[in-house]
Amino acid sequence: MAFEKVSTILKDADARKTAVLAYDCFNYESIAWLVEAGEELSIPVIIMLYPTMMETIPASVFAAITKKMAKTVKIPVGLHLDHCDSYETILGAIRDGFTSVMIDGSKLEYNENVRVTCEIVKAAHALGIDVEAELGKVGIAANKGDFKNEDMYTTAEQAADFVAKTNVDSLAIAIGSAHGWYVETPKLSMPRLKEINKAIDTPLVLHGGTGIPEDQLRESFKLGINKLNVGTEYFALFYSTTKDYQQVKDKKDSLFAMQGYQKKVIKDYLLNKLKWTIPEKKASR
Ligand SMILES: [Zn+2]
Repeated sequence: MAFEKVSTILKDADARKTAVLAYDCFNYESIAWLVEAGEELSIPVIIMLYPTMMETIPASVFAAITKKMAKTVKIPVGLHLDHCDSYETILGAIRDGFTSVMIDGSKLEYNENVRVTCEIVKAAHALGIDVEAELGKVGIAANKGDFKNEDMYTTAEQAADFVAKTNVDSLAIAIGSAHGWYVETPKLSMPRLKEINKAIDTPLVLHGGTGIPEDQLRESFKLGINKLNVGTEYFALFYSTTKDYQQVKDKKDSLFAMQGYQKKVIKDYLLNKLKWTIPEKKASR
């Protein structure tokens, strides 16, 4: 049995100077194959549900699948509700078994973000549930201005004030990443990350993990990112593999043959990406 609190998983990652990959999932396969890949490498994973996905899979079913899967492995498996700005939806997810939630007040004016975050923290912490909040604006990767404009980045000073006022368990920050497919390769601001990590002890979260080059991610993990959110490329892979299978030589017209192909491609992708969180050994002198 290895179901674990997200805050515990992140504290452990922080101690090991690395990050845990958190994937937006949407069905049994997207959850199970990630857990299996993590187990093969002995690397913890976090399963996330994006609130709009509740139209596809009820939160209670999603939570139950994740917890059942966690029982089959030794690695820590976390369960987290991604981007949510509704008090009711967050409380509903907690009722349905979620042990970690994100309150996203980043679109609000600063004091209002503090206020709504405090409201969630008060309710969640009373129930032993972890809370992630967002400070600064992580925008859309299709808009260059959203990730290149440093005015939208989180500042160390505000991060220190925010965590002191809200007592959140983790903080998503804006340092040059964005959601979706990037129109241009992003360049994360490592100096800003360093400043924020120095100013607060709270584990830091990077959103927009699709398409950031490996070297930048590895560097960001070293400098304080403890959770990397990935969605877009995972969804895209589930879609492209169903199409690609049609071109496979000797393909069988069978759902299960197609799924076997899909599982292999997706597991290979996961095994590769999870390895990015293994700190590189220092070259011996
Ligand atoms: Zn996000």
